[in-house]
Amino acid sequence: MSEDVPVWQEEVVQRLRGVKYPGFSRDIVSFGLVQDMTLEGTELKLRLKLTTPDPAVPEKIGKEIRDCLKGYALVKSVAIETEVAPPQATASTGPQEISGVRKIVAVASGKGGVGKSTVAANLAVSLAKKGLKVGLCDCDLYGPSQAMMLGCQDGVRVEEGTERIVPAECHGVKLMSMGMLLGDDSPAALRGPMVTRFTQQFLRQVAWGDLDVLVLDLPPGTGDIQLTIVQTVALDGAVIVTTPQEVALVDARKAIAMFRKVNVTILGILENMSYFVAPGSAERHEIFGSGGGKREAQRQSVPLLGEIPLDPEARRCGDEGKPVVLANSSSPSAKVFSDFASQVTKILFPNISS
Ligand code: ADP
Repeated sequence: MSEDVPVWQEEVVQRLRGVKYPGFSRDIVSFGLVQDMTLEGTELKLRLKLTTPDPAVPEKIGKEIRDCLKGYALVKSVAIETEVAPPQATASTGPQEISGVRKIVAVASGKGGVGKSTVAANLAVSLAKKGLKVGLCDCDLYGPSQAMMLGCQDGVRVEEGTERIVPAECHGVKLMSMGMLLGDDSPAALRGPMVTRFTQQFLRQVAWGDLDVLVLDLPPGTGDIQLTIVQTVALDGAVIVTTPQEVALVDARKAIAMFRKVNVTILGILENMSYFVAPGSAERHEIFGSGGGKREAQRQSVPLLGEIPLDPEARRCGDEGKPVVLANSSSPSAKVFSDFASQVTKILFPNISS
């Protein structure tokens, strides 16, 4: 904090950092909700900017603000004025469109290891196969895997004159990884406000060119990083990937709640690793349980976009850098991946035939 900030304000901000936005791990200061504060006598006047018209939110935040200031001698009472602004107008600059990009879709999962990156890679190449101009952005800052899944050896280059970064291109998909822009000296764990700055910088720096769809492969989970990305980029929708088992569904629910809080449409749930059929047999082995994705989709009133079988080909092709929809389009998983991509296309571009 700079030297001209009064001590009382420094103390109040410090205390407000302990007030979490309801349902999130992030506090109201780093969320950018606190617009202004003045101290008149011992009355603290706070102006908050919220994105939701739900009266329960300012009520809950107000109570926590008063609680966190209890015991601070300079503040005896708190007057809170709230202003409700649409989500675009909050945070530092609000969700940004990416110039030249028509649709932006996030592929997310609450839990790691459910096949989110495999889904994002197969979605991107399937959309490209349909003739769409597609970009794929690996937003996993610490464990990027898309370069491997798309077999991308090329690095990115810097465009002369504009100094923007030109994505690599593999299987007709423009690929960029957020991890590539982090220097070796970046801190091991970026905090919320740093991620906001980084994401905004990233959005301005990549020369995506003209794209029909940009697929964002989000890092697993629903923490600060995910929340910041979904708030910073103007998303057209999100696909939630889960396996049928409860432990994955619990986290998928959290991911859905996160998107809904920031008014992002859930395009649907895609269940992965739904069953296994051994070659030459007709018997379905439901290794991770059965019907979890379908039940959750019904509960959330969103479409179930497919049930992808466990398929050794999906794993092998991913490891070899050519997604299964390209490398072995007749394999059991490839068919479901293609159908899923067609559904996403229909939702995003209702006027084109897929
Ligand atoms: P996440 O991005 O959710 O962490 P990945 O896409 O990296 O998950 O998948 C985890 C592992 O599971 C990878 O080795 C991947 O090849 C494999 N995998 C994903 N989906 C399937 C599937 N349907 N059948 C077989 N293996 C799969």
